[in-house]
Amino acid sequence: MSLGSTTDDELLAIVENLRLNEREPLLCNKCGSEVNEGERIVVRVHYDAADADWLVTGRFCEECAPSTIQGPKPFLAEAIVEGSIGLSAVPLSGERYSILRDPELIIRA
Ligand SMILES: [Zn+2]
Repeated sequence: MSLGSTTDDELLAIVENLRLNEREPLLCNKCGSEVNEGERIVVRVHYDAADADWLVTGRFCEECAPSTIQGPKPFLAEAIVEGSIGLSAVPLSGERYSILRDPELIIRA
């Protein structure tokens, strides 16, 4: 799928499956407060051409939620998406990690 043809719905479906964090618990990148399962979170994502995939580049609690685009560069595109934190698990190992549930697009560029 080329980036230019990604609709908002497709983008949200992709973001919904991204792992939000390499470590638990998930911390707001601005104030450092813990954001737990079921709580609201806002994530910034960038599209990386080299990986041909969207990356989570920022995680924020509701109070610190950014509403403006930071600038896609050096990536190709950027979006800010809000949702709540859900948990998913790696098959076999059972390792749990945070994902974004019910994502809603705030802005994209
Ligand atoms: Zn915060």
